[in-house]
Amino acid sequence: MELTNEQKEQEVLKALSAVQDPDLHRDIVTLGFIKDLRICSGNVAFTIELTTPACPVKNMFRDQAITAVKSLDWVENVNAELSAKVTSRTEQLMELQEMMKSVKNVIAVASGKGGVGKSTVAVNIALALARLGAKVGLMDADVYGPSLPIILGVHEQPEINEARKIQPIEKHGLKLMSLGFLINTDQAVIWRGPMVHSLVQQFLRDVDWGELDYLIVDLPPGTGDAQLTLTQSIPLAGAIVVTTPQAMASVIAGKVVGLFRKMNVHVLGAIENMSYFVCDNCGKEHDIFARGGGEKLCLRLGIPFLGAIPLDSRMRQGDDMGKPVVIGAPESKVSQEFISVAQNIAVQISVANATLVGEMAQVANAGPGMNMKTPHD
Ligand code: ADP
Repeated sequence: MELTNEQKEQEVLKALSAVQDPDLHRDIVTLGFIKDLRICSGNVAFTIELTTPACPVKNMFRDQAITAVKSLDWVENVNAELSAKVTSRTEQLMELQEMMKSVKNVIAVASGKGGVGKSTVAVNIALALARLGAKVGLMDADVYGPSLPIILGVHEQPEINEARKIQPIEKHGLKLMSLGFLINTDQAVIWRGPMVHSLVQQFLRDVDWGELDYLIVDLPPGTGDAQLTLTQSIPLAGAIVVTTPQAMASVIAGKVVGLFRKMNVHVLGAIENMSYFVCDNCGKEHDIFARGGGEKLCLRLGIPFLGAIPLDSRMRQGDDMGKPVVIGAPESKVSQEFISVAQNIAVQISVANATLVGEMAQVANAGPGMNMKTPHD
């Protein structure tokens, strides 16, 4: 039976997706290089649009593409042309920034390793900021273990609105987006770098966040692709590092601080989670993991210490029941600590933003000649 043109197109694209870009580590179909695909019975024509006319592998692309398409049994002739459209990083960044204009401050929450309570802390900080009167969004970029749906008890799927944007889920006064809303959380997904990259970009670009004072981004643990994408895509108000008191945890957290600094991201400070345990019976505080590691880390790195969150079984219970402690037990000591941490974060952001404005004003007042040498120097 003769294939329809649509089926033929699918076959051609599938064949072409065997051609990989050796630098971008993705195939030329995924990268959007194939343009103007035309099929007329056994004749196939298309253009490979490269990102630069100086592409050193352009002929290799064309040869491999022709061979791949010719391997289809109904194909008689293949005409592959090469063209180039040079990409602009500024253009891409400006486009993304234009879309994120209504989001005033993006805050990344990071940790050196998993299990330190990063997601729990990110959620409760977001809730605390909302309780203090701010408009807050929470984006779960922890693609390897999206926990937001469980911690916040969200079971519905987001809808696409009239503007063809993803409508974030609204719960407890927060706007929420997580990969966990889109896939089954039990599904073991093996995420490759480029997928993490495009998901983070998509959550920034295609979600209708609306007006937000703070967008909290829960990053995966460590120093991987999501961290790099986020720092390269939008200007972050700053990053927060969550750690536990143990010396080893502090060493690993220090590496994350190093990465942010290298990427010119302002580090707002660190939070020590599971800092101490308050006895339910006598109220005595026990330093199970040698409290103070987070504070020492801050001193060593010269970053603000944002606060200590105690070990409290209500935190875990709240997470399991989809009712985080700031909502479930608002009067508890741990909730009060979250309010204080949220206030510290808000202050750090205001200070950083004011400093930046001050510096820019100084540059503007100094005029274009600042730091320029005159012929008499
Ligand atoms: P991460 O995001 O760093 O992997 P999670 O936020 O998923 O860590 O927390 C890991 C586990 O520890 C969860 O079961 C969570 O409820 C629990 N947890 C986190 N912080 C605390 C705390 N301060 N007291 C008690 N349990 C906590």
